Amino acid sequence: MHEVVDNKNNPPKKPFIFYAFFAVLIIMLLNIFVFPSMLKHSIVEVGYDQFLDMIDNGEVIEVSYDEYNGQFVFIGETDGRKMIYQTGIWPDDGQRLLQQLREHPEIAFKSEIPTQTNPLLSFILTWILPMAFFYIVGEIFYRQMRKKMGGQFPGGINAMSFGQSGAKIYVADEKTEVKFKDVAGQDEAKESLMEIVDFLHEPEKYSELGAKLPKGVLLVGSPGTGKTLLAKAVAGEAGVPFFSISGSEFVEMFVGMGAAKVRDLFKQANEKAPCIVFIDEIDAIGQKRNSGGRIGGNDEREQTLNQLLTEMDGFDGRKGVILLAATNRPEILDPALLRPGRFDRRVPVELPDLQGRKAILQVHAKKIKVDDSINWDIIARATAGASGAELANIINEAALRAVKENKKSVSQEDIEESVETVIAGAQRKNAVVSDKDKKIVAYHEIGHALVAAMQSNSAPVTKITIIPRTSGALGYTMQVDEGEQLLMSKIEILNKITTLTGGRSAEELIFGDDNITTGASNDIEQATRLARSMVTRFGMTDEFDMTAFEKVQNQYLSDEPVSNCADDTASRIDSRTIEIIKSAHKKAIEILKENENQLHKLAAYLLEKETITGEEFMKILNS
Ligand code: ADP
Ligand code: ZN
Repeated sequence: MHEVVDNKNNPPKKPFIFYAFFAVLIIMLLNIFVFPSMLKHSIVEVGYDQFLDMIDNGEVIEVSYDEYNGQFVFIGETDGRKMIYQTGIWPDDGQRLLQQLREHPEIAFKSEIPTQTNPLLSFILTWILPMAFFYIVGEIFYRQMRKKMGGQFPGGINAMSFGQSGAKIYVADEKTEVKFKDVAGQDEAKESLMEIVDFLHEPEKYSELGAKLPKGVLLVGSPGTGKTLLAKAVAGEAGVPFFSISGSEFVEMFVGMGAAKVRDLFKQANEKAPCIVFIDEIDAIGQKRNSGGRIGGNDEREQTLNQLLTEMDGFDGRKGVILLAATNRPEILDPALLRPGRFDRRVPVELPDLQGRKAILQVHAKKIKVDDSINWDIIARATAGASGAELANIINEAALRAVKENKKSVSQEDIEESVETVIAGAQRKNAVVSDKDKKIVAYHEIGHALVAAMQSNSAPVTKITIIPRTSGALGYTMQVDEGEQLLMSKIEILNKITTLTGGRSAEELIFGDDNITTGASNDIEQATRLARSMVTRFGMTDEFDMTAFEKVQNQYLSDEPVSNCADDTASRIDSRTIEIIKSAHKKAIEILKENENQLHKLAAYLLEKETITGEEFMKILNS
């Protein structure tokens, strides 16, 4: 979601050259038709007889003949005032005139025709001044456009950036400054980005120590969760310029020149360092090369990606160019992009929980007039699963509704109505989690957590949430030891399998066998893989002792094991695996039955809070 005006509707570059051409044309027309008569105005036209009289009266100082217009132009002095005069020629009067002029030797004959203004002055008047005028008008016009478009105008502020990448340049002191306080919730993301702000403030502090900051940070999260907003806030907090470009723009707009545009972008960024470069939808250029084995692949995209990698390796992180990129599909990114020295830091930007939604609603409500009596809790509760962008939209829709009904301020009812329009209008698959689903997910997640906590060797949970994740999971229980343990004992693996079955077990226990859901599919997959590995790789069953039937071929390429055994053995392996799972499942159900009171209490609390910490969990468990 962007408030950014799309470049496609505003072809960059063209306006400037078009405008300049137009201005020169106008000035030329003025010079041909308007200025000459304006300037000539001060030349006095006199009759031929008066000319002759003036000669006789000694009032003429010098005379010249304007062949082009067929007339005399002369300087005369009447009553002590010098003026330029002109007069037509009287045919066949040449001889007489010449004689008369000769009688007045003080009159000079000049070949140069006098003009009112000197050439420099007239050049300034007819060319420089109009040019300056057009330039100023253009500049004012341009500034206003920029303001309207939220500080972005394609092509950059100076005409010299003509032909460059078209990355929208934010000039630090001119942009509408987004600060961290404008980003509601997202405390964890803000915290990890704070370091970057600090670095941009005091790069010396870091360079003195020789510390290098990450060059690239990947913001991972669903659309509308505020990734762009966060990136802008980093630039805003640090007071540095903000370049932004979207990956799909790269691919669509710059067909055939993606690589060149990447080079341009980095060149500009290097000149403006310290600064933030934000690449939205980086998956559009950063997809795995040769993914899907398409014949020929996409050369264009690959070249662009290669250039991006080269540039990232090339620039000096200490100069203060920081790359932020956003994606909601980190798994499809080329591994090369994620290597150290590139986008080696990942900041999850998840959908907001209850508190987060309330905060976002309130941030946006500040921009409109709302009744004091509004109960934000109710609204926040009704919008579980909505993104920041959707919440912003809800507030805006409510304001529009209030205007339509000629109200002075937005009421609770307006907002509640607009929740329905926006949510129904979005028709996103998981736009908002229904109360029924929320309840199921809450019991499921508490099921995992409770089973984990009740097994002595299982680490207690650190966080439980029923907010949908970027990964697609509807809920999530984070355990302390995740990913950190190198050696796992047999009992730990069994406990882990039991914990994995805990989610589904809670569903069965509370909602009945007929109402179990698909939500456990990932748990089932993981549990099966673990149980199978116990049999085929870890030598943890009596039946097969220390025999390996599977091996992981290349743990860097994929962790899909390759099986290597007789058909008969394979079916026995399957039976053993099933046994392990079955007994773990049974154990989980027992644990939950024993603690059913706790299960209800905890699920109710989670439903209320949406996200709870391990500490809160333990407190309720032990109460
Ligand atoms: P993304 O880049 O993740 O798709 P954006 O940053 O473009 O999302 O968010 C779109 C809009 O949604 C923002 O401009 C802002 O108005 C609103 N928004 C999203 N998240 C938040 C938030 N945490 N706090 C306040 N507003 C938000
Ligand atoms: Zn689960």
